[in-house]
Amino acid sequence: MQRTLILTITTLLALLFITFTSASGARDTDTIRVYSIKAGDYIVTKKVEKTAEEWSEILPPDVFHITRQQGTEAAFSGKYWNHKEHGIYKCIACGQDLFHSDTKYDSGTGWPSFYEPVAKENVGTETDTKFFMVRTEVHCSRCGSHLGHVFPDGPKPTGDRYCINSASLTFEPLEK
Ligand SMILES: [Zn+2]
Repeated sequence: MQRTLILTITTLLALLFITFTSASGARDTDTIRVYSIKAGDYIVTKKVEKTAEEWSEILPPDVFHITRQQGTEAAFSGKYWNHKEHGIYKCIACGQDLFHSDTKYDSGTGWPSFYEPVAKENVGTETDTKFFMVRTEVHCSRCGSHLGHVFPDGPKPTGDRYCINSASLTFEPLEK
């Protein structure tokens, strides 16, 4: 009985050690390759990893709720749904390029809508089954911030509708 207990504890400790070392090892080499509009090419950048507490200290409460707790702003309430300037929509949390204004269109939904991201590597997707719906969640590939959802009812050329929260974005104008 006692021997079994000791064996169990030893196994647990070994597992903990493996988990710990592999997690910290992964953090050191966690880089991603994403597209940069200004560089005009792909760049290699470090992933941004912070705890919920760290994010809550950096981001305003409404932005924290939407980007880190999968929140959604009210339709027609955000600052970019009707925004028509030429430039780059970036991640508000880490600054990564996400969408170009050339791909923005009026979806009539009250949320900024784009038919494609800057590059597929710049965003990540995940199946979201909240609220009795099956949707595809979209997040920043660099910092994991929640952006919105993508639906298959967008315009040409992709047929995709990236329905994004203004609160997840910041805008940088570009010269035409
Ligand atoms: Zn980000």
